[in-house]
Amino acid sequence: MPSFETGVRLLKNILIKKRSYSAFFADETDALHKAFPAKATVHAGPFGIPMLWNSARNFLEKKSFEPRQTDGIAYVHIPFCESRCLFCMFYQNPYASEAADAYTNTLIKEFELWNQRAAQNSAPIKALYFGGGTPTAFEPHNIKKILDAVRTNLPLAEDCEITFEGRLHGLTDEKLSACVEGGVNRLSIGVQTFNADIRKEMQRLDSPEYIIRRLEKISAIDNLAVVIDLLFGFPGQKGKAWTDDLKIASELPIDGVDCYQLNVFE
Ligand code: SF4
Repeated sequence: MPSFETGVRLLKNILIKKRSYSAFFADETDALHKAFPAKATVHAGPFGIPMLWNSARNFLEKKSFEPRQTDGIAYVHIPFCESRCLFCMFYQNPYASEAADAYTNTLIKEFELWNQRAAQNSAPIKALYFGGGTPTAFEPHNIKKILDAVRTNLPLAEDCEITFEGRLHGLTDEKLSACVEGGVNRLSIGVQTFNADIRKEMQRLDSPEYIIRRLEKISAIDNLAVVIDLLFGFPGQKGKAWTDDLKIASELPIDGVDCYQLNVFE
C-alpha cells in the first residue's frame, strides 16, 4: 500500500495531468507558513509538465485578474552571478552590466504591467524576497531602481519583510546603502562554509577572515536583520569542519542561520 505522501503525490499528478493547475499552487490560507507543502512540483521534469508558451501566457493572463483572498508573499528572481561555485544549481547567467541594466528595465515594466491587476494589488504583501543567482551582484543604481519600482507597484504591508539575497564578495557599502535606503530590512548571505580548504575546493571566493570581519560590520547596521546560509555534506567535510562552522556562526552577531544539506545529483 502506498504511503500517505505517495498517495498525495499520485493524486496531485492526476490533477496535473487533467490540467488542474491548482495542483501547482501554494496554500494561500497562510502564505508565510504554508507556502511550500502544498506545491506538487515546481519545475517541469520529475512530476512536472512543461507549459508551452501560449498556454502559459493565456493561463497567467487569466489568473492575473483573480483577486488574492489573503496576504501574499512575493518573489523576485535575479538570475545572474559573477562566478560559478562548483556545487551550485542556481547559477544561470554570467553577470554583465548591460544584461543587468536590461533585466532591471524589463522587471520594472513587468511590475507596471501587472500593477492594476487583482492578483498583484488585491491584498497586502507581507514578505518580499529577492533571490537568485546573486541579487547583490547588481550595481547600486539598479538595486535602487528595482526597489523604487517595487514600492510604487506592489501593495507592500507597512511591516513587510524585504529580503535581499547575496554574498559578501563584491557587496560594497554603496550596494548596502542602496538596499537599506530602498527598504530592505533583511539580508540573506550565502556563506556556505567558513572552512578555507572547502571554500577553495568549491571555488568560493574570499577568505574566512574577510567573511567574518564583514559580517561583523554588516550586522551593526540599524534595522537590518542579517542571516547566513551554511551547507553541510560537502565532499571531505568531516564532522569537525561542520561543528567549527556552527561554532563560528553562533559567535557572530548575526540574526540567524539557515542550514541546508548539499544534494548531489548524478
Ligand atoms: S555565489 Fe551563489 S548563486 Fe553564485 S554560483 Fe555561488 S552559490 Fe551559486
